[in-house]
Order: sequence, then C-alpha cells, then structure tokens
Amino acid sequence: MFVHLKTLGCRLNEAEMESWSREFHQRGHQLTRDPKQADLVVVNTCAVTEEAVRKSRRLIRQAHSKNPNAKLVISGCYASLNPAESFKAVGVDLVVSNQDKEQLVEIVSRELDLNVMPEMATESGDLTLLPRNRQRAFIKVQDGCRYQCTFCIVTKARGDERSRSLPSIIEEINWRHAEGVNEVVLAGVHLGGYGSDIGSDLSELIRTVLDETTIPRVRIGSLEPWDLPDDFPELFKNPRFMPHLHLPLQSGADSVLQRMARRCKVAEYRKLVNDLRQVVPELNITTDIIVGFPGESDQEWQQSLQTVEAIGFGHIHIFAYSPRDGTIAATLANPVSRECKRQRSQTLHELGEQLKQQQLRDAIGKQSRLLVENHSDESGQSYWQGYTPNFLRAELAAPADAGLKNTIIDIEITGVSDDGERLQVKRLLNCNYSAPLKRSL
Ligand code: SF4
Repeated sequence: MFVHLKTLGCRLNEAEMESWSREFHQRGHQLTRDPKQADLVVVNTCAVTEEAVRKSRRLIRQAHSKNPNAKLVISGCYASLNPAESFKAVGVDLVVSNQDKEQLVEIVSRELDLNVMPEMATESGDLTLLPRNRQRAFIKVQDGCRYQCTFCIVTKARGDERSRSLPSIIEEINWRHAEGVNEVVLAGVHLGGYGSDIGSDLSELIRTVLDETTIPRVRIGSLEPWDLPDDFPELFKNPRFMPHLHLPLQSGADSVLQRMARRCKVAEYRKLVNDLRQVVPELNITTDIIVGFPGESDQEWQQSLQTVEAIGFGHIHIFAYSPRDGTIAATLANPVSRECKRQRSQTLHELGEQLKQQQLRDAIGKQSRLLVENHSDESGQSYWQGYTPNFLRAELAAPADAGLKNTIIDIEITGVSDDGERLQVKRLLNCNYSAPLKRSL
C-alpha cells in the first residue's frame, strides 16, 4: 500500500509525520511523494492562524480531488477543532484527533483495514514486533520455504529453502557483539527448516550460537509451529536463549487451517505450546491471525476466538485477509465482506488486549532482567525503557544521566503503566549483571 503524508504547521506536526512514516514503513507500507499514486493520504492540519485554517481546508480539498480513490485521513489542530461529521462532505474517511495522534498508524490500520497481510508470511513478527536499534541485530540464517500455504506468495517469491552455514552465522554474531550489540534475533522465512539442505537443524544452530559466541541474548524470529526438533524446548534451559516465541497460528479453526493448507492443526499447536510452557513457564507466546480468510463462517470465527482465548497470547498481530495474485487463496470462493473483517478484527483486538493485560498483571512481583534500550521524558518524569527476556516492554524511573543505555540490569516488576503498554520496574542493585559465561547445554 502506498501512503502519502502531508503536513502544515509547527515542528511538532513535522515530528509526528516523521514517526508516522517510520511506523507505516515498519508495517510494510511504502511512502510516496506523489499523492496520485497513494492508496492512503494523511493530512496533518494546523489551526494556529486563520491563514493556517484556510490552508488546511485547501490541502484537504486538494488531497481528495487529486486522488478521490485514495482513503483520506486527517489529524492535527484544525481537524480536532471541528466535528468529524463536517469533513465527510469533503471526502474525509477518518479523523484522528490530537488526543489519539500517537496511535494514528494503529487506528488508521484498524479502522481502514490496512492491517493487510504482508508480502512474506513471516514478516510480521520480524518487522513490527522486534524493533531494530543499536542493541539488537537481525541475523538472517535461512531463506525460502518448502510449503505452499494457500495465502502465501513466499514460495514463488523466495524459492527453495537455503540455509546459511554455521561458521558464517557465528562470525557475523561475534562481529555484531564486538560492535556493542547485546541481542541477536535469528531470522528466516521457515526457521524450522533450518539445516534441511546442509545436514543440520534448528537445535544445532541455536546450540552452536550459544556455545561459540558470548552474546548475552539470543532470540529467534517468527517460527512456523511445525518441523521443530524434539529437543527444541530443552534449549530454553540456557538463560541466554530468550523465552519468547512468535508462532503464527493464522486461525483457531481446523477447517480454516485446512483451506490455508497449514501443517499444524489446533490440537497440535496447543500441545506444542503446553509442552513448551511445561519447560519454560515464563515463555511469552505471540502470534499472527488472519481475519476473514475466504469462507470464514461465523461458526469458524467463534471457534477461532475460543482457541485464541484458551491458548492465551502475549500479543496478537491481526491481519485482515487480502488476496495475493498468484496464490490459491485468491481463487477461493465466498470472500468475507470488508465490514465483517473490520468487526472481527475489532473483536480480536479487544480479546488480544485482555490477554496481554492479564499477562502483564501476572508478571507483577517477579524478578527479571532488562536490556535497556532508550531514554524518554514523559510528563516531567525520566524513564529508561527496554525489554525483558520474554519480550515484555518495561520502564524504569531513573535520571537521564544514569548511563543505562545498552546495559542489562536486574529488576523487579512492580506494576503496569497507566496506558497498559509497559511494565513498571525497579532496579535490583545487589545483583549487577555480568555477561554469562560461555556454557554448553
Ligand atoms: S510455511 Fe506457509 S506461510 Fe510460512 S513461509 Fe511457508 S508457505 Fe508461507
């Protein structure tokens, strides 16, 4: 999807445009300078003077007349000061008030069904769940996929499975560690297939990384819930292997999974999760769900919701189904209406939020470790933020000059932030972290 962003007014408006463009990009959309090429136009308006109001009105009218087919979203002061209904006549599809500006990309994605499936079925977890920065590096270990899930274009786009050699992976990790990176994420299109072409497997890869590097944290990216080696759960006994798995479920109804040609039925998925949780109780499982796959009936949808609730996820990445030319699913009958997909996405979003809040509340009182990634000031309070091993966002109130960036500190979880997005933690000073020794499992 092509997105065109336009702003008027102050520095703050400019800064917001910057962060929206980053977020749209992370969600797999492309930014365009040409409004006529755009599928979505966002105008950030201003009302500081009468002239700014006139310009804002003109920009909105022009945006609609230049490209009446594009979705038009407005935000900013002029948009917030007038009733949303008054903009319908000039072709505006959605008004996001100043109050909700920080969530603009999420709101727009949800309300206008932009959470469409990414080109690569595995991109979601890698691109949006795990932010890239100086502390974390993505290491590509594998490409291609031998399967043909009916919604996925990846087999055509990426071809056969190819695994990178262990020595070259180790070399890259050691090099990134020497640069100051403290966490690596092993990523691939079908990670569970790692090694199938070079006589190895995913367990050997992870063991070797843990044995032959001293990088403090090792994660894996999105992982299909099948083809996992038998000893895979045991790997989590090493504290450097982070207890978070993004296991795409895609639907919680077997009949839909069958139409998707997925290799894992609901019962198998649940067994896998149960087995993993037996060994790693703090394991955070996140997932992808495609909403409105062709023919998804009310009954299948209800089954799916029940499955999601029974498993309990730390985060659900929700995608409204969108057909991809060249896939089998694009030829299936009984498409689900846009409105139905929107309603189901909303319901799942609410359920996902409840499950996430439950998980955050359950973490209160526990001790953990935080890789500190950045500093921010909010409402006059100074915070350091980062992620726990099981990939929960956390914040620590501490002065800006505490020098915590890119350190790993011991913490106790004391609460959840008011917006329900982060754990609040305090530092445990008597057990300073030092990089774990190299150890075998
Ligand atoms: S397992 Fe299915 S969804 Fe995943 S990459 Fe392969 S074909 Fe695509």
